[in-house]
Amino acid sequence: MSAPAKPGDKSAPAKPTGRGLADQLAKLGLARDADLVLHLPLRYEDHTRLVPLASLSPGLAVQTEGVIVNTDVQYRPRRQLVCLIADPRQRDAQLVLRFFTFYPSQQKALAPGNRLRVFGDVRPGHFGLEIVHPQFKVVAEDSPLPDRLTPVYPTTAGLSQETLRKLVARTLAADPALTAETLPESMVARRKLWKFGDAVAFLHAPPPRLSELTQRALDARTHPAWTRLKFDELLAQQLSLKAHRRARSQRRAPVLTGSGALTRRLLERVPFTLTRAQQRVWREIAHDLKRASPMQRLLQGDVGCGKTIVAALAALQAIESGKQVAFMAPTEILAEQHYRKLVSWLEGIDVAVAWLSGSVPAKERRKAREALASGATPFAIGTHALFQEGVELPNLGLAIIDEQHRFGVAQRLALRGKGQAEAHQLMMSATPIPRTLAMTFYADLDVSAIDEMPPGRMAVATRMVNQKRRAEIVAWVGKACAEGRQAYWVCPLIEESEKLELQTAVALHAELTAALPTLAVGLLHGRMKPDEKTATMAAFVDGRIAVLVATTVIEVGVDVPNASIMVIEHAERFGLSQLHQLRGRVGRGAAESTCVLLFEEPLGEVAKMRLKVIFENNDGFEIARQDLVIRGPGEFLGAKQSGVPLLRFADLERDVALIEQARDAAETLLAQEPEAAAAHLERWLGGRAEFIRA
Ligand code: ADP
Ligand code: MG
Repeated sequence: MSAPAKPGDKSAPAKPTGRGLADQLAKLGLARDADLVLHLPLRYEDHTRLVPLASLSPGLAVQTEGVIVNTDVQYRPRRQLVCLIADPRQRDAQLVLRFFTFYPSQQKALAPGNRLRVFGDVRPGHFGLEIVHPQFKVVAEDSPLPDRLTPVYPTTAGLSQETLRKLVARTLAADPALTAETLPESMVARRKLWKFGDAVAFLHAPPPRLSELTQRALDARTHPAWTRLKFDELLAQQLSLKAHRRARSQRRAPVLTGSGALTRRLLERVPFTLTRAQQRVWREIAHDLKRASPMQRLLQGDVGCGKTIVAALAALQAIESGKQVAFMAPTEILAEQHYRKLVSWLEGIDVAVAWLSGSVPAKERRKAREALASGATPFAIGTHALFQEGVELPNLGLAIIDEQHRFGVAQRLALRGKGQAEAHQLMMSATPIPRTLAMTFYADLDVSAIDEMPPGRMAVATRMVNQKRRAEIVAWVGKACAEGRQAYWVCPLIEESEKLELQTAVALHAELTAALPTLAVGLLHGRMKPDEKTATMAAFVDGRIAVLVATTVIEVGVDVPNASIMVIEHAERFGLSQLHQLRGRVGRGAAESTCVLLFEEPLGEVAKMRLKVIFENNDGFEIARQDLVIRGPGEFLGAKQSGVPLLRFADLERDVALIEQARDAAETLLAQEPEAAAAHLERWLGGRAEFIRA
């Protein structure tokens, strides 16, 4: 087909041929006939009735019919095709059809004398009623009307509704196996589900004149036909997760029994005792590492709860079992901080640690890599990027991934696919995933949670301050720092331009340096060389810098207990989890801590909601829950950016009850009807199991 058809244009050729069609279908993810069956309408149009031209009134979308009186191209106020149709039995019943874009083929179809069936929104025009860009087709008198509602499908450029409708209808009619029931009768009956075939037939072509209630349920996707589809989708996801988990239990991983030699010494060395929560999760992890199948455990815990020590213990258990450990962090600063902390904890304990940083001279880095490759060095710490450059760890027993939410879904998959599946994996995250999401998104992971803060922590006092009162804050920070406190001052986030963000950071640094002449003001941003960052961080840790102006490079993980003031400029631009992470940088020492959220009016609705949530809550879990409400699950998980499709039909928030039912059903099916489970998976996931698992 040459000219692209407008959506809904009924006069366009019905069937693009060959590659064109296959490509377009592929764009919609429709590779197999089974996929067409599951390509469900967005909404419906009622083409079952004809409203006579004489009875039209502005308002709803309607279908009507008339004979073309004339068709003209007009040029005022802009180029348009204007077609007048009339009822031959009642010539004064007329309707104007107006097209601002049109093809020669369409113009040709609109020849005077032709009978047109049109569908669209009727509105008042200059010369009576009109429809702009109606769907239309040329028909003979008394052409039959459909007896079902007409589906409107998600489609892509060049693929007309008419083509899709025909394809779907033909597919549904051609092969009954495509709509056969995959679930055992008892399961369908007990849960009062519609049969799959009935649900699909209904959704593709519902009967007309539905009650208002039914219509609303259909629109809201709460109709039993939709419920069946959502249930099936969630069931497929749960089945695939369980299959994955089972496959994992059959894979082999090194048994890291541990001798306790190193872990015990670490526990003696650190200047604190583990909280009860830390002890519990440490036991869970230690137990996993002793098993012969790979651990995939997510360690969750709010900012500052002390996940690092647990990771260090896991690392030492692997090392004392004769294996290597890779410890990855998303940023250079965070990786370095882990490195420093671990080296200090390991002082006097004989464990070689390799620091894989961009700031280490090439020669030394090569030496470190060689020591890892030969197995001489058991412990490697670095950024995720550095590990991706191909560090050889022939004896790897455990991979630890800090702030795993920062790596995103796609990277989590990549890591797993890199042959490291045989090592145990410990992922850590301070972004708690609400339970319903965890049940689907992370359902193939085991989860440990640290739900207790180390003793002596004080809640951070949060203040909201208008930018207009910025000078007061500068003075207050100056006074507090003169008394020995330390402050972070976070630059406004400028998502569109890293360069602008850098300029802002430099300007802010200059401003504060001038305003606070007696204090040392430092600057930290993403464009600095790794060794410059290191030096600046070290000066801040030592107290040589009092106020650290920083971009969001400090967002995750940074731990400087003496810092007790956090000022965030343009707090309204930050996301909730970022704000929570940033605020979590303070409140780690004995001093009372304050977080100042500088905001500028006017505030948008969402920004207002976010600031309210962060102001009112200290609990990361509650903040995450509210974040989910504000943003919706897709964006919350960062899956939108990474392009991994989540669920198509089910809604993780609204369909919680269904998720739980699907989980139970998956268990039953796998235990009692493995063939049904396989057929169900095939229908829903085909070759795409990896994707939906996410
Ligand atoms: P996060 O879970 O955010 O990664 P960290 O592991 O960085 O937190 O720990 C935050 C701070 O708390 C660190 O300075 C760490 O040494 C300290 N810490 C960890 N566990 C305890 C504990 N049981 N008692 C006191 N301080 C602790
Ligand atoms: Mg951390």
